[in-house]
Amino acid sequence: KRPRPRRCLPVIPQGIERSRFFFAIDELSSQLGNENVEVNDKPLDDGWYMEPPNTHDGMAITDEEELVASAVVYPGSTDDVQKIVHWANKYLIPLHPISMGRNFGYGGAAPRVRGAVVIDLGKRMNKILDINPDDSTCLVEPGVSYYALYEEVQRRGYKHLWIDVPDLGGGSVLGNALDHGVGYTPYGDHWAMHSGLEVVKPTGEVVRTGMGALPGNNTWQVFPYGFGPFIDGIFSQSNYGIVTKMGFGLMPNPGGHESFLYTFEKEDDLEQLVEIVRPLRIAMILENAANIRHALQVLALSGKPRSAFYGGEGPFPREKMNEYLKNHPYGACTWLYFGTCYGPKETRQLKLDIIHRQFMKVPGARRIDPKVLPPSDYFWSRDKIASGEPDLEELAWVNWRPNGGHIAFSPVAPTRGVDALRLWQMAKKHWIASGLDFFLDFVVGLRELHLIVECVYDRDDLKQRSTALEVMRFLIDEAAQKGYGEYRTHLLLSDQVAGTYSWNDNALMRFNEKLKDCLDPNGILAPGRSGIWPARYRGRGWEV
Ligand code: ADP
Repeated sequence: KRPRPRRCLPVIPQGIERSRFFFAIDELSSQLGNENVEVNDKPLDDGWYMEPPNTHDGMAITDEEELVASAVVYPGSTDDVQKIVHWANKYLIPLHPISMGRNFGYGGAAPRVRGAVVIDLGKRMNKILDINPDDSTCLVEPGVSYYALYEEVQRRGYKHLWIDVPDLGGGSVLGNALDHGVGYTPYGDHWAMHSGLEVVKPTGEVVRTGMGALPGNNTWQVFPYGFGPFIDGIFSQSNYGIVTKMGFGLMPNPGGHESFLYTFEKEDDLEQLVEIVRPLRIAMILENAANIRHALQVLALSGKPRSAFYGGEGPFPREKMNEYLKNHPYGACTWLYFGTCYGPKETRQLKLDIIHRQFMKVPGARRIDPKVLPPSDYFWSRDKIASGEPDLEELAWVNWRPNGGHIAFSPVAPTRGVDALRLWQMAKKHWIASGLDFFLDFVVGLRELHLIVECVYDRDDLKQRSTALEVMRFLIDEAAQKGYGEYRTHLLLSDQVAGTYSWNDNALMRFNEKLKDCLDPNGILAPGRSGIWPARYRGRGWEV
């Protein structure tokens, strides 16, 4: 924890006088209760994963004070959220909703507009409103984490139900789905598995989508589309509404599962491997999101810092990586494939055999027998996650650098060998040029893969921070020149990424802006999120 010098005065959002801002804050406090409105006048504390700050980004890539909240408010109900929205419209104060603020690598809890009031939905709106054991569905509020949902399913003794969890289980089920996060059971596409939203519009009205619009319905969580245009999409990765409830389908327990690990020796093996993965994944013989990782991450997952392996600067030397892996049960290699098959033994064995035959076509491929792996091995963390049990093991690699922070570059490509290789070569070039280390993970959803490049930096090293941000910018531009775009990005890179989706004279952004101005005429909700600026801000120097 690194407390900073005390700041006596909170940041005030632009366009409002200090005295009027405090007058407005007093008014909101009288509506929500003093204990539910907190002015941000304390030193910024970065916390850590389990205690993430809600005032700023705990892994700030620029000056912490740049993207900082003026105040944080804690609604206890949808009604409270409406009050906050009405208040913001009255005083023209920007709002920034978060569920739990664990969006690490993409900006954490930080607002894009300095001085925005953060709505921390998760603190008080954290109820599991329903788990339906017959329909295999649930309905949750923003503050429900994967851990909480998992524990509640266990507590109720629903052995026939699984949940799906991402790499880290502490985040919000609702928030992760809104940002298109993924997990590793066959229900890993979180957004695709949702059914039904409750949304507070930027002007304060509440909408329920899908079947939720039909009074007295019992189908909100089982049929997502309802009647008429399917509007749910406009509330994901956007600033068109504050989502206060969200429903999901839950996976039935498949009656058994078995995880497997293969290693591949050479960098260029990636091409052949991805060609093998595509038809198997589309046919669902590979049943969960493929997870093809660069082996450097194994060193970092040991929890030991980089300096324990290599004292020099510049990109981590390949020989040092092999030296360590030679004595590791995985052996020297470049790529690791973590996967899982589901079903009773006889069902999954059929699939495991096909996968084995196909993967072994890559010269030098090896299957690692899980029986030789100690219980502390990272493989077992993947196994837990792939069977819907939340875990935190993935945090270990952040300690690669002292005061470790990370920022992600996440381009999407078809699941084709040439594309994977092209992305790898591009990432490698910038990895070496930057002198920082990259952890790479090719995640194959179904027909598409997204590469997640995590660049790790020391948060106290200004040079490393600026290099990390700069290299992200190079990667986004070069990827766009080659026809690749990101599926998600850090809030400071949103304008740049949005700018790459420019077909037909930026028709998509013009459409987004039109929607924004219509739904949020005063431009109070999360200005700049996903590069969408309301009219009041547009073209006035906010874009970066
Ligand atoms: P997590 O919930 O995974 O801890 P966040 O709360 O930081 O992560 O959510 C990720 C991003 O999604 C936020 O920065 C915010 O822009 C958006 N977001 C999260 N929750 C909501 C919500 N309930 N309504 C609208 N946008 C949200």
